[in-house]
Amino acid sequence: MTDPVALLSEYVRIDTSNPPGDCRGAAELLSGALRAEGLSPVTFGATPEKPNVLCHVGGTEEPGLVLIHHMDVVPARAQEWSVPPFSAEVRNGFMYGRGTLDTKGLGVAHWCAALRAAKAGILRRKLFLVANADEEVGGGEGADYFVRNLPFPIGAAYGMNEGGVGVTDIFGGGGKFFLLNMWEKGPVWMKLSAAGRAGHGSRPSVKDAPARLIRALTRVTELREPARLTEPVRDMLRVLRAKGFSDLDVDALRGGAEEEEALEALGRRFPEIDPLLRNTYAITTLSGGFKPNVIPSLAEGTIDARIVPGEEPEAVAARVRARVADLDVSVEILFAERPNGSPMGPLYGAMEAAVLSVHPDAVVVPYMSTGFTDSRFFRSIGIPTYGLMPVLLPRAEHGKIHGVDERIPVAGIEEMTRVVSALIERWNA
Ligand SMILES: [Zn+2]
Repeated sequence: MTDPVALLSEYVRIDTSNPPGDCRGAAELLSGALRAEGLSPVTFGATPEKPNVLCHVGGTEEPGLVLIHHMDVVPARAQEWSVPPFSAEVRNGFMYGRGTLDTKGLGVAHWCAALRAAKAGILRRKLFLVANADEEVGGGEGADYFVRNLPFPIGAAYGMNEGGVGVTDIFGGGGKFFLLNMWEKGPVWMKLSAAGRAGHGSRPSVKDAPARLIRALTRVTELREPARLTEPVRDMLRVLRAKGFSDLDVDALRGGAEEEEALEALGRRFPEIDPLLRNTYAITTLSGGFKPNVIPSLAEGTIDARIVPGEEPEAVAARVRARVADLDVSVEILFAERPNGSPMGPLYGAMEAAVLSVHPDAVVVPYMSTGFTDSRFFRSIGIPTYGLMPVLLPRAEHGKIHGVDERIPVAGIEEMTRVVSALIERWNA
């Protein structure tokens, strides 16, 4: 099966909502498509419900290319959607469905482009297809398990995964920007807890647990650390200047207050860049209390911090702890990953050329994502991995990922497949 629209339609109709994240049907569909073309995919996983698929499509030379996506999707509340979320219904040129963008659409582009390349007999370097389970709940039984239990060695290789996108309305708008995700900020999820004496709502005190927690959370979210230049941002700004979208010359910056002010001005001009310049802190959950006239003895909240390269989760948590110490609020890390990325390498040029072969007027920009993906697991075993779902959309459409009415332009499915085909061709030229 090398028709990506037909394959995506079938794929979306297999509900892989996570939780529970049962990917057996999806793995069977993808494996079947490969077996039908005479290939031998291997399926393995921590549990039968969480299979991962690996297939050597062809080629013998290294470095190889690994095309990665995940089969599971976040749940969808059908009553909020304009079409059933697992119907793959086509309306006004869009295929609707949970996973059309995140990341089943990318998966079918990988699958169909790889099968076309195998048929054309162009594979000199090793080409691998990977489909993981479990990404939407952290990848523990998915990509993490996958990289630690490979059924055969992959060898020297580069990876292409989700994480970057094509966007029409950023950097001032009016362009075709493909953001190549080279880096990802690190998540640091912290629980802040305040304990105190329970009491009557008619006799409040500044020592009440909820009152102290609120003050602590406010202090943390009002923490706006100075803008700083990191390697991924430097790479991005060099390209934006070369293409005429910014006049900031990062190579002329010499640190200090002047550099900081130049970066702050940049963040004001391009709000989408601002979170790449510093750590961010968001309040994400709050709990405490059970009755309007009772002051509870315990109050808790969580902060989702996203930290820039050069920061360590423990050090960031220690700073937060120090900031709220006088309020007697404890800070505990629930989950953290270090910021991670891959340096500019030969895959960058190949991906840029592949995008330009389909969209000659596009601008490819090296980027750091504020979110995190499975790429970190592949990077951890020495596979430099970049993220790109090469479909071009306004930001509002990308915003439907994890939201309501997630959809992909039908024409974009084939367009994306052509970009991946062009990448495979270049990688084997
Ligand atoms: Zn997702």
